[in-house]
Amino acid sequence: MELFKPAWQSKNIDKALDAVNKVNTQTQLFNIVMASEEQFSWYRRYRGKKIFYSNSTQVKMRAIERMTDQSLLADISQNSSVHEDLRIAAIGKLSDPALVEKLCLEIAEEMKEYKVNSTIIALFESHIKNKKIIAGVKKYLHDADKRKRDEYNRIRCSRGDHLWKNTSDSGKQRCSICGAIRNIDLNEVWEMATGIGRTGW
Ligand SMILES: [Zn+2]
Repeated sequence: MELFKPAWQSKNIDKALDAVNKVNTQTQLFNIVMASEEQFSWYRRYRGKKIFYSNSTQVKMRAIERMTDQSLLADISQNSSVHEDLRIAAIGKLSDPALVEKLCLEIAEEMKEYKVNSTIIALFESHIKNKKIIAGVKKYLHDADKRKRDEYNRIRCSRGDHLWKNTSDSGKQRCSICGAIRNIDLNEVWEMATGIGRTGW
């Protein structure tokens, strides 16, 4: 049983942050970030673009702010059991732009499965100051979406659900995936435009 809690685990956020401010070794700061006490549960919410963190998260964020040891920061940013907000904050403290870019893309790749792009980008923007790297993350996410959409469309097309687009020949449409051509079905065009089945008129 634990008989005493360190001050950085205080329920009083001011006391906790103050304690983190007084920690003077990089290893201790690292240990605060990696600690997984139950009361230090994750909590994050967005109001507009601003991100609010739980007390425990604020404490860990403060510890990262005070870290300079590049190898410990790289450890945090690459540890998949650490929450991505902290990983991204740790990346923001790394000084090698090539490493920053590589780690940003890796985390963006992990996050895009379960978070919308705007959320991911807001998170990166709050910690990574290098605009070129942010632009790279945006492009990466955009391209990943496009690849996913293209793949979905290819599957649709292969099942005969073609993506018909009008051609310069006003009577014909072409599938933008496989290039199949069809004559425009006027009944279908009428139905799509009006919501009324023409033959039922
Ligand atoms: Zn097709």
